[in-house]
Amino acid sequence: MSVEAELENSIQYSPLQRMRHSAAHVMAEAVQEMFPDAKFGIGPAIEDGFYYDFDLPRPLTPADFPEIEQRMAKIIAGNYPFVREHWSRLKALEYFRQKGQPYKVEIIENLPDQEQVGVYQQQHNFPELCQVNESKEWSAEVTIYQQHNFLDLCRGPHVEHTGQIGPFKLMRVAGAYWRGDEHRPMLQRLYGTAWFTQEELDQYLYRLEEAQNRDHRKLGRELELFHFDVTAPGMPYWLPKGFKLLTELINFWRIEHEKHGYQEFSAPLLNDQKLWEISGHWEHYKDDMFLVPIDEHTTYGLKPMGCPSAMMVFNFKTRSYRELPLRLSDIDILHRHERAGTLHGLLRVQKFQQDDAHIFVTEDQIEQEFDGVLEITHLFYSIFDLKYSFRFGTRPEGYIGDLETWNKAEAVLRNILDKHVGPGNYIVAAGDGAFYGPKIDILMEDALERSWQMGTLQLDFQLPRRFGCSYIDKDGQIKTPVVIHRAIYGTLERFIGILIEHTAGAFPVWLAPVHVRIITIADRHVPYAQEVMQRLREQGIRVELDHSPERMNAKIRAAQLQKIPYMLVIGDKEQQSQSVSVRLRTNKNLGVTPLDTFIARINNVIKARSLEL
Ligand SMILES: [Zn+2]
Ligand SMILES: [Zn+2]
Repeated sequence: MSVEAELENSIQYSPLQRMRHSAAHVMAEAVQEMFPDAKFGIGPAIEDGFYYDFDLPRPLTPADFPEIEQRMAKIIAGNYPFVREHWSRLKALEYFRQKGQPYKVEIIENLPDQEQVGVYQQQHNFPELCQVNESKEWSAEVTIYQQHNFLDLCRGPHVEHTGQIGPFKLMRVAGAYWRGDEHRPMLQRLYGTAWFTQEELDQYLYRLEEAQNRDHRKLGRELELFHFDVTAPGMPYWLPKGFKLLTELINFWRIEHEKHGYQEFSAPLLNDQKLWEISGHWEHYKDDMFLVPIDEHTTYGLKPMGCPSAMMVFNFKTRSYRELPLRLSDIDILHRHERAGTLHGLLRVQKFQQDDAHIFVTEDQIEQEFDGVLEITHLFYSIFDLKYSFRFGTRPEGYIGDLETWNKAEAVLRNILDKHVGPGNYIVAAGDGAFYGPKIDILMEDALERSWQMGTLQLDFQLPRRFGCSYIDKDGQIKTPVVIHRAIYGTLERFIGILIEHTAGAFPVWLAPVHVRIITIADRHVPYAQEVMQRLREQGIRVELDHSPERMNAKIRAAQLQKIPYMLVIGDKEQQSQSVSVRLRTNKNLGVTPLDTFIARINNVIKARSLEL
């Protein structure tokens, strides 16, 4: 279920959401005043505001916003109460039919009748498959809310009267298919935001502007990190500079995991449908996979997750309890077929890599192994100075396996979280676990106070059974191991996209695609500049030389725009004394420095993975 749909269905609105949802109704009234024939879809509160979907005789443009906003302000100033009524379904159907509101009619018609509720509960083993307006409770009545001249089918709740709606602003308009279905009509989704105070609204608009300046798609182009082409939607081309960044992250991952006893493998990207049938992907995930027909009888699928590969590597030979915990890591390329329109730069892609690992353990080893995983998590996020927290996802509806095992698994994870961050210091998302086991998601807050879901740690009793994984225990008995699935960065593409926005492209030195740019003052300094470049290259420092005829200040400015950490300016003085003038991307000038001193400094910064320059 989408977030919007969940909010629309939820009666547990926070005060802010309640106010924003009320603002959506007021916006709908303003639109109704301007377009008496407007047809209305749905209008929920969303993360930073609200929207309403309209079917209108002409497209809205931002030029319409001032008029809509003025009309809204007038309705708000009228302090009109939100009045709730209960209508029978029949009365509501007749009303909305007569008013020419086909979308409202459809919503009412699709509310399950008494008999359907039971069928619904049996069929929907996987809660994420829920459709927008399917409610699990049956009711003979629907609720109606009216303010001033606008009446809507709505579960509410709302503020008491329109005067309680705070400072607001219309943001944008975009196309949205009715019920998210590309075969249904395209409606116009008008977005707005509303806050309790003007100051909160101003701060939000500032953060939004800053986010636009830091948009990773914009910076990705300017810093020449990655590129997307229409012939491979959602599949990034890593340009040389971006590939350096990716490679450095992978190197760090590899080195640290080897230290923690992980063993890396690589597996095929294409597998026969037979493998996906065993893993359950064929049944539950086929629509999200790229399929490759081989002949009449055979279809291959591009790997969407690494789990089955790890099971195959485990099963390569008979395993003994002495080998456990067996930590198998991989960073193979994965593909997932996303619906058109959901792709978004590096944040939502179809081709990607995950810092994946599957740890095979005995039940006794779960807790200790999680300790190790949380230790690595801390290392990874503190190296970037990122604030992170955990969200604990418990047993979902439609889980597989037995209740006792689930209870045990949840107790173990709860224990671990209590121990590491303390009770109450993590979010519990009831029913948010994977269908095969409970999970801990890593959430991160960036420089603009936005929260992102990054890696995930999951406990799985099911997949090893499906694949017949086993080991010989101390007592000679054959047993099934438990598997911990874990990714710390999560998807590297997404991690890099977020890191670009968090740092505004000014990466820590060890990650910077270019460490140093050498800037010559005149042509006669080029031979010495080349000598310096060679010295740095021999040290493994990534260096560029700018000997263009531009003025020095223009060259410094160009390097700063590229967020290159160090600029070394070379003129007569530097050449004579075998030194360099060091400028930082922060514009700080360190002055003339012996070349050896600079080399020692930058080597230290890189080696320590320092965030300082
Ligand atoms: Zn409503
Ligand atoms: Zn997995």
